[in-house]
Amino acid sequence: MQSRGNLWRAAAADAAIAAIGLAGCSAAKPGAAPPVSTTASPSPIPTAQPSHDFRPGTDGVGDPYFPTYGNGGYDAESYAIKVKYDPASDILSGDVTMTATATQDLSRFNFDLSGLTVRTVTVDETAATTTRSGRELIVTPSHGLASGAKFVTRVVYDGKPKPILNKYQELGQGGLFATSDGAIVLGEPDSAAGWFPVNDHPLDKAVYTIAATVPAGLTAVSNGVLGGSKTDGGWTTWTWSEGVPMASYLSTLVIGKFRVTTGTHNGKPVYSAVTTKVAQGAADTSIGHTVKIADFLESLFGPYPFDAYGGVVIADERIPFALETQSRPVYEAGFFSRGVDDSVVAHELAHQWFGDSIAVHYWQDIWLNEGFATYAEWLWDAHNHQGTVQQAFDMAYARSAPAVWRTPPGKPGPAHLFDATVYNRGAMTLHMLRKAVGDTAFFTILKQWATQKAGGNAATAEFIALAEQCRASSSTPCSTPGSTARPSPSADGVSGPKQFGSTRTARVHPFVLAPH
Ligand SMILES: [Zn+2]
Repeated sequence: MQSRGNLWRAAAADAAIAAIGLAGCSAAKPGAAPPVSTTASPSPIPTAQPSHDFRPGTDGVGDPYFPTYGNGGYDAESYAIKVKYDPASDILSGDVTMTATATQDLSRFNFDLSGLTVRTVTVDETAATTTRSGRELIVTPSHGLASGAKFVTRVVYDGKPKPILNKYQELGQGGLFATSDGAIVLGEPDSAAGWFPVNDHPLDKAVYTIAATVPAGLTAVSNGVLGGSKTDGGWTTWTWSEGVPMASYLSTLVIGKFRVTTGTHNGKPVYSAVTTKVAQGAADTSIGHTVKIADFLESLFGPYPFDAYGGVVIADERIPFALETQSRPVYEAGFFSRGVDDSVVAHELAHQWFGDSIAVHYWQDIWLNEGFATYAEWLWDAHNHQGTVQQAFDMAYARSAPAVWRTPPGKPGPAHLFDATVYNRGAMTLHMLRKAVGDTAFFTILKQWATQKAGGNAATAEFIALAEQCRASSSTPCSTPGSTARPSPSADGVSGPKQFGSTRTARVHPFVLAPH
């Protein structure tokens, strides 16, 4: 995500003595699963039948910042979303099929769903019982679901979607926003539960097909590859597919009137759309640079991770940001009101590697998205002869408000996911890592990170572990995190951070730096 009016650009210059760091990161356990019971109760009577201990899935995945986001007890593999949206009435009619695998013996399980009226729910084609509790849709199938069993849940629902206002109001709102000519689905961390039933946490990625039926004459743009559009009886159905597992908040649907540009790049389809609410010009030019910028980032981070390219430009004052929706970022037109802006395009495209392909483990790890995307802006600007990365660092350093130095980017707090420390101190941390280990090792770290974690989730401690395995000035690949190799002190003449290269473990704070 990138907000308009990037915070540090307006921040007062006040940071004479400061430390950059992730000090205080609470290291999430990589791969940690929510607490669930999978232990079968001992049966008093020996039996040849497998015994089960059917229990409810939890109402969250255990995210420390947002305990009820996502749900425990199952792993969603795919969502087939069919929605019909009528801008005249604001009514959304949905029919969603989720295929999932039970990760425990399940007596019941939850979806996240905000508002809307659930009409019918079936599990494996048999009617299920449902109740609602806040954002939880609680589904009780007719029989228990054994751990490891694949099951198919279909939910039919409708209603007038309302954007979700996060309980931390600093985070704003997300979900489906009705517009004068259609609708926009966008938001972080809240979005998906506002328009379909979902296991709404980045830890449970899935593949998607999204078929959106809208009045003929309107276009419905979503993630991935366009399968086609078909008009019948005054309604057009647009079918999209995202075949690379996607975190739920990265799904989008934008309905309206657009100038559409299509093409092919590196054998993959390009589909970009600019709202006709803005005149042709800088917005079109900026997202027209998508593939050029993606190729530059690919040269740094490794192969572009998705099956399609593109972007969508909207015009809506309620959405003052751009978001890295998978394979097709959405940009608010205000970014381009003063002319072409490649930086925001570089930011959202960098997220395709850092944020989308590698999603956060928990939301506290968001600097792994935003710090990296901000650093990619600096790299693109330098590549484009718009100053140097060091100058970008110096400016960010000088203009960072005291709050930036009080708040470690790896532990921003739930209300502050999008604060300057996450973006700018995160990017500054990467730059100081680069200075400590040298360019070769630094870019090897970035590429290895993008490769090793592609398609999955990652926590801050895992990045630290990888960085610590990489030798300063080494031209050889870094060793795999978890190996016993010790990093050596900086050998390239650049003053290293005090603790980088120490023999202490990743649980200490390796990026605590002396004042620049
Ligand atoms: Zn971002």
